[in-house]
Amino acid sequence: MFDVSSWQQIQAYLVPFRRHREIRVIAVSKGQGAAQICAAAEAGVRLFGESYVQEALGKQAQVGRADLEWHFIGRIQRNKTRLIASHFHWVHGVTEEGQARRLSEVRTGDGRPPLPICLQVNVSGEAGKGGVSPAQLPDLVEAVVQMPGVTLRGLTAPPAPLRGGEAATRHHFAALRQQLESLRAAGHVLDTLSMGMSGDYPLALEEGATLLRLGTILFGRREN
Ligand SMILES: *Cc1c(COP(=O)(O)O)cnc(C)c1O
Repeated sequence: MFDVSSWQQIQAYLVPFRRHREIRVIAVSKGQGAAQICAAAEAGVRLFGESYVQEALGKQAQVGRADLEWHFIGRIQRNKTRLIASHFHWVHGVTEEGQARRLSEVRTGDGRPPLPICLQVNVSGEAGKGGVSPAQLPDLVEAVVQMPGVTLRGLTAPPAPLRGGEAATRHHFAALRQQLESLRAAGHVLDTLSMGMSGDYPLALEEGATLLRLGTILFGRREN
């Protein structure tokens, strides 16, 4: 169930941070039904995050509103690239040049503006966490900014490490911010740090997040 009071509490929590920068909240609606998305939209939510293409397309059709911004936050499977580029307003978690190239190809010449994307960086270096390594990030950025059908907006953090508590989580977010800052120092215009989930968004905000991805705290537990 979408929890309006939780949404309002988060908006209040964001007030001091918003004095310094723009911060947006994606309501992560994977595993939630269309009725929950409609309830959230009624409460003023405009950004929704989905991880599974087919599930998302079904709900987009059921919800039937043109004023919502859909963010793809799942794994980008090669055979789903066309659907992702055509049915989402933003794509997080781009990790390879080929993914960006395929997204760009769909958006080039289809009359729509370039697709805003973020690159997911494996800042904690944990095996199994998707993301480009910090060492390979600059080359990937140089390649992506040449692509006409995508606009590189910033970086996405994978989930924070499970071990190491608050210190490790803070370090994880700070490391992503440092990656963004060094890209900016190299002349790239990037405005987005997509980091912070239900369990750690206060730390992400302290470390500079501009785009939160909140699921459980807004909707409760998911079906999948
Ligand atoms: C599911 C998911 C979230 C939301 O997680 P919660 O802990 O429910 O807030 C955020 N980001 C990504 C990439 C996800 O897959």
